Amino acid sequence: MTFALLGLSGPILHAIADLAYDAPTPVQAAAIPAILSGRDVWGSAQTGSGKTAAFALPLLELLARSAGSSTGASRRPVRVLVVVPTRELAAQLAEAVRSYGRYLADPPRTCVVVGGVSINPQMMALRGGAEIVIATPGRLLDLVAHNALRLDDVEHLVLDEADRLLALGFADQLDRVLALLPARRQNLLFSATFPPKVRALAEQLLRTPLRIAIDAGATLGETQALINQRAIEVDAPRRTMLLRQLIQTHGWSQVLVFVASRYTADHVAEKLRRGRVAAAALHGDLSQGVRTQALADFKVKRVQVLVATDVAARGLDIVQLPAVVNYDLPRSAVDYLHRIGRTGRAGETGTALSFISADTEAHFRLIEKRHQLRLERERVAGFEPVELAVPVRDPYGGVKGKRPNKKDKLRALKA
Ligand code: AMP
Repeated sequence: MTFALLGLSGPILHAIADLAYDAPTPVQAAAIPAILSGRDVWGSAQTGSGKTAAFALPLLELLARSAGSSTGASRRPVRVLVVVPTRELAAQLAEAVRSYGRYLADPPRTCVVVGGVSINPQMMALRGGAEIVIATPGRLLDLVAHNALRLDDVEHLVLDEADRLLALGFADQLDRVLALLPARRQNLLFSATFPPKVRALAEQLLRTPLRIAIDAGATLGETQALINQRAIEVDAPRRTMLLRQLIQTHGWSQVLVFVASRYTADHVAEKLRRGRVAAAALHGDLSQGVRTQALADFKVKRVQVLVATDVAARGLDIVQLPAVVNYDLPRSAVDYLHRIGRTGRAGETGTALSFISADTEAHFRLIEKRHQLRLERERVAGFEPVELAVPVRDPYGGVKGKRPNKKDKLRALKA
């Protein structure tokens, strides 16, 4: 299979050749002809499967085919609206769209519309119009309210990472955005997982869609075969030391480390820096400028270790990331899947490592069970855990780790 056979034309094929994409990935082979024919698509494809190009290439092709036919040269109405959950994903998509479209005779203008940064430059950028808008929902609504943007000419709507959009509480804003769109349009919905809310949205939105299930969403599928998953037992206070040692012994050029809180992200990055490891934190409390810089530094390998919270790391596309470390375990089995999907991408193998302590063993078992997985627990010499792994039954019913947590202490005080 080749990209030319899928119906893409010269300028786009030229850009693909520049990027050295030899052949379409399965999601691209399925989605590109369907999108070109105007069909709705429901794709359960993860980041790493090539889903960005799967929708961006045919949409650029469609825009190019009809460029100038309906609009005066001076007016550039929004024809493609891509709604995404995070600013980072928006920036990344815009970069991809610009590179795929750069040989087109009249490349569409692409604007990124996201919160967390000043609204004025976005209003300015939209002044001359933009055929493609990539947006997070809140800021998009703000700009519509300011009359900086109209959505009544949108022909193609893409909801990318729809599961995350809903999980982050964007449902109401998304409904308001949908109400602003013309009824006749093409809808493309991509999601790594399909919890009931996403299914309901898909059913509300899509008309006889082509369903593409590159099904890594439900359990660990083909993509994950490229990921070497490991679990290492270590006491929580020694994780940063162990992390440093692992980076050295494995010679990882780059590591994405997931933590549970903003505080931990800062703290671990700082400790690594003190140990002469080039590390940066990425979380939602940082200004957009700092986040963009951290990401850019990581991409050009000025930063070796990026310590991130889930939301901040969502959708990051860093090619050939050799390792992902769960310093703190993810809250859910679905998050586990998203996290480990950051490595083993586009045909590369990668390592996804989880730190397990006495307190988190039971939680990790649940994640394993959900994915029908059972990883051997490893230990690293010098970092063998000493905390008891034996759970004690607390007097209130649930099985807890040996140390009482805050809630337990409050209950004990009240008793
Ligand atoms: P995505 O799933 O869209 O985040 O893409 C994951 C990575 O795969 C990106 O770095 C893309 O540039 C790359 N990619 C997308 N399509 C192909 C392809 N057909 N061949 C090789 N790499 C690709």
